Amino acid sequence: MLTVADLSVSYGPIRALRGVSIRVGAGEIVALIGANGAGKSSLLRGITGLVPATGRVTFDGRPIDGLSTPQRVALGVAMAPEGRQIFTDQTVHENLLLGGHLLRGRPQRIAANIDRFYALFPRLLERRDQIAGTLSGGEQQMLAIARALMTEPKLLILDEPSLGLAPIITADIFRTLVGLRRDGMTILLVEQMANQALAIADRAYVLEGGSIVLEGVAATLRRDPRIREAYLGGD
Ligand code: ATP
Repeated sequence: MLTVADLSVSYGPIRALRGVSIRVGAGEIVALIGANGAGKSSLLRGITGLVPATGRVTFDGRPIDGLSTPQRVALGVAMAPEGRQIFTDQTVHENLLLGGHLLRGRPQRIAANIDRFYALFPRLLERRDQIAGTLSGGEQQMLAIARALMTEPKLLILDEPSLGLAPIITADIFRTLVGLRRDGMTILLVEQMANQALAIADRAYVLEGGSIVLEGVAATLRRDPRIREAYLGGD
């Protein structure tokens, strides 16, 4: 579904990503793990077009690297960014409606999607009219995911969904991701909680200093001594 070939991202003199190649097959959860500053977010931003990048990005058999971010979203690439970036002064419901802007003119479909995500995240339904900025961290993360799903993506990209969350809430969110995969969603997941990410992922890539240093089946990587030592210590 997604093929990234030789992607590089620089911020002025800083080379954050150095010729990275990955692929994400339909129906897979693929995890990207790596330390702070390894280039994980830069890779996601390169895929979604949020930063200039060199290299090739192919989605559903079609090159998308020349497209704007909204054009990539319209083709089915959705991202719930790190730090969540929900509209904090709008209600939960308004955030979901805004997420559905791609479906404008189809109010029934928007309403059906919102119902589906309220079923997926009952906490959001309970807080339907609450101002999003007053939600807990976990609830904001659920809202960010639901809002990304409102665009009816084929590929859901998540940047550190566990950031700042209690382990029990993270487990909840990860369970939801497994449920989404069961329903056919394809997911690219950046995570510092390597153990939990590898537990739900099909395959994974390890980034270090802007390059892929290890890749493989998630269950195998989880047992790999190099991974255990570098990333699973406190997790
Ligand atoms: P983290 O887990 O801490 O979010 P990451 O693996 O996502 O890290 P990136 O955010 O991609 O890493 O950053 C990779 C490198 O690029 C880092 O050295 C970072 O300081 C640098 N960098 C990221 N964004 C910018 C920017 N806007 N301007 C300058 N340098 C940047």
